[in-house]
Amino acid sequence: MKDASAATAPDLVFTPTRAAGLDRLETFLPYAGRAYAETRNHDLPGHENVSRLSPWISHRAVTEAEVAAKVLSKYSASTAEKLLSEVVWRTYFKGWLERRPGIWTDYRQGLKAARDRLATSGGLRRAWEDACGGNTGIAPFDHWAGELVETGYLHNHARMWFASIWMHTLRLPWELGADFFLRHLLDGDAASNTLSWRWVAGLHTKGRPYPARASNIAKFTGDRFDARTLGHQLTPSGEVEALDGPPHPDPKTVPQDVALPTGRIGLLLHEDDLRPDYLRTRGLDPAGTAVLIAPAARSPLTVAPQVAAFTRKLAEDALGGLPDPGPVTDRGEDIARWAAGFDHVVTPYAPTGWLRTALDALPVETLRPVRDWDLAAWPHATAGFFKVKKVIPDILDTIPSDLGHI
Ligand SMILES: Cc1cc2nc3c(=O)[nH]c(=O)nc-3n(C[C@H](O)[C@H](O)[C@H](O)COP(=O)(O)OP(=O)(O)OC[C@H]3O[C@@H](n4cnc5c(N)ncnc54)[C@H](O)[C@@H]3O)c2cc1C
Repeated sequence: MKDASAATAPDLVFTPTRAAGLDRLETFLPYAGRAYAETRNHDLPGHENVSRLSPWISHRAVTEAEVAAKVLSKYSASTAEKLLSEVVWRTYFKGWLERRPGIWTDYRQGLKAARDRLATSGGLRRAWEDACGGNTGIAPFDHWAGELVETGYLHNHARMWFASIWMHTLRLPWELGADFFLRHLLDGDAASNTLSWRWVAGLHTKGRPYPARASNIAKFTGDRFDARTLGHQLTPSGEVEALDGPPHPDPKTVPQDVALPTGRIGLLLHEDDLRPDYLRTRGLDPAGTAVLIAPAARSPLTVAPQVAAFTRKLAEDALGGLPDPGPVTDRGEDIARWAAGFDHVVTPYAPTGWLRTALDALPVETLRPVRDWDLAAWPHATAGFFKVKKVIPDILDTIPSDLGHI
């Protein structure tokens, strides 16, 4: 099995610094308007038609607001509409899961049940190993498995086709596929990943699964994969059945914002939010800083070395220029020792996922102010994307006026 978790980390294709993310944003800017709208669905070698910003955005080393501000400094909102709405899809998924955290717990339980089945079913285990190792004989699927393991990134359309073939053609448990993604994606995100896999399954938009069709794959991959051969290997009719699941739980209330305390403050960044910009704007003047990371907690299996390295290095980079930088650590006791020097610890709000679990387990009380961007969007993340899409102008209104000049 060619699973990179067992191998040493290859050189990172994505440089783990905020400066590299900002460079990527600058380089992508000429393509962020009409070109993106017209070509973004094509999965082509090099992926220059999409931003490839997700490894930075998912850790908020570059924020959604910064991307939007930069794009709006060059294009009108209507020309940039496609890119802006993709960025807001991320916000929608985060809000949707935040308001139904049980879906994350269910995913982790489903993963445990699927792993138990791996232990008792040799056939399932072999099929899972072949899928992760890119040995299924389905050419594009095997190619994407290798690309993911090697680079830590896949194009959105490839992720959709891959997930569809995983569950609807190979009939593997979707939770094992979502876990394979989380172990290898540099941008691995509890909300975007879990809800996208559920969307492909027909569990998020109930009863409407996503089929990977041979002609669609051939068309949007520049005919790199032969539609005739593929057609037989996918589902012959091109149709797939939705997976079954319970109704969505009712949405919980939106998390409350909190005021900044006075006294000697420690600022605790974490791998889901490495930019304290909004806290500084609200007047936070920390006496010291540290970062909580938890890449190994993405999965009960071994997480790819390049994911762990990317997360740690990006976190170390985030401390540059901040007052009295302390530890970058996944150890609660290190944070407790560091926190003892302060009256209060303030941390950016951490949405549902493995990092929040790690934060909640700290033996330290933390105050967690919420970003204005999320506060504008999350009240509307109760059903489909359309409700959040309607308030994009309000979300964009939360961007501080000086952000366009980064
Ligand atoms: C099965 C599956 C799993 C996924 N898992 C993740 C994940 O773990 N982490 C993750 O960040 N995204 C995930 N996505 C969403 C999407 O594929 C990636 O965000 C996107 O491909 C990142 O590439 P990019 O930065 O070049 O995107 P661009 O097309 O350049 O888009 C710009 C930004 O918008 C956001 N975005 C774009 N498309 C989506 C989308 N469909 N959903 C949510 N946000 C989006 C991302 O922050 C992205 O960086 C998943 C999608 C699928 C179908």
